[in-house]
Amino acid sequence: MGLEAEVSAKLGEAQARKHAASAMDSVGKKRKALGLDEDAMAKKLRGTKDDAIGRMDELWKQAKTNFERSGAQVYFVDDAEKALEKIRAIVGGAGGTKIGEMVGKAGRASDNAIRIVKSKSNTCDEIEIFEIEKAKVIGGKRITLTETDTGDFIVRMLGEKETHPVLPAAHITNERIATAISKKYGKGKRVKPETKAIVDAIAQIVREAIVNADVGITGANAVTAEGNIVILENEGNISLVSRMPKKHVVLVGIEKIVPAIEDALLVARCASAWGTGQSLPSYVSIISGPSKTADVAGETVTGAQGPSELHVIVLDNGRRELAKKYSDALYCINCGACVNACPASRQVLEIFGGKMPGPKGLVSSAIGAKNGKPYLCSMCYNCKASCPALIDLPCGSTGIRSARCGRGRSRKNFTAAEVI
Ligand code: SF4
Ligand code: SF4
Repeated sequence: MGLEAEVSAKLGEAQARKHAASAMDSVGKKRKALGLDEDAMAKKLRGTKDDAIGRMDELWKQAKTNFERSGAQVYFVDDAEKALEKIRAIVGGAGGTKIGEMVGKAGRASDNAIRIVKSKSNTCDEIEIFEIEKAKVIGGKRITLTETDTGDFIVRMLGEKETHPVLPAAHITNERIATAISKKYGKGKRVKPETKAIVDAIAQIVREAIVNADVGITGANAVTAEGNIVILENEGNISLVSRMPKKHVVLVGIEKIVPAIEDALLVARCASAWGTGQSLPSYVSIISGPSKTADVAGETVTGAQGPSELHVIVLDNGRRELAKKYSDALYCINCGACVNACPASRQVLEIFGGKMPGPKGLVSSAIGAKNGKPYLCSMCYNCKASCPALIDLPCGSTGIRSARCGRGRSRKNFTAAEVI
């Protein structure tokens, strides 16, 4: 379907638009109610990012030394394929007793699968992590991968595209979700199209997958040169995904590095306020190494109650090259405030942007994804005004347009279809 037809069809979905608008507006109202000095926070975040992006390589070097000191492994990978390869290699060695087996619930120790659970992560989306389900690993075992974030679980179950980085299923009605869960997981029972009933049903499915998982994969909101991974969440699924399986894999873009834990907490505060309208979310995890104990004979053993292995995969995938032309693209903290503020996004939802939705998706489509649609932007500058990292998003959009026009042909040679 061409873009014009896609837009026309989307404009007909009034209910989806209403749903999304209500979810997006509530975030802004909650943030205003916090009474923060937003200008001061944004200025501070900008300064932190200026410093961190300016000396990324030095900070990652320090981070690697500090992570390795606490028993974690750090790998730098150039692109999505290398990241998938690394994950396959780590997953291929999956073994050890799963929590489900220890508590006697799973009863499937001999089955022929390696089970992975993942939390919400734009970087995982970027490398198309579900590709690893297609791989056969050691001993021909198949891989299963379960999404544990409620919104992303819904989007995946329905085969939809996310509308928003923080509210991926904001456009989908309760009726559609309840019907899909009942059909796929209900075993004859019908889930009521009520929000609580839907959340409970998904939590039950996800819990079972986490308890039986071999490997947990998460992203991170920030990583410090001191050797800490900071992850924010409200649901509690990330805490479980990062604690229950015996291996925890963290996939992050190189831009997530900051010097110290105080800087990571500033990122956390801004991501939370601009992303969900909270001063901090329900859970903030700071992970600095695998689980360990020295309680028996004073000898340190890794893998006590939590994972015995922590693997940090650091992805470039074009970021360094992009930083040379448009370093602002690396300042994003994925709060989604620009999507909420963008009049074009609010009308055509997930169609606006690139691989990820909204103004942020449009600009980050310059990283890896090739399908950005910059010509729906009206250059109103609302996104820039709403961004806590003070990113000049319209400038990025203009840059993508210019780059397209510069691909060996003059602007006047483009067909109308290419332009939109
Ligand atoms: S400048 Fe473009 S991307 Fe930014 S809010 Fe306006 S329409 Fe959206
Ligand atoms: S570009 Fe700015 S407003 Fe948009 S998601 Fe990133 S940090 Fe948030």
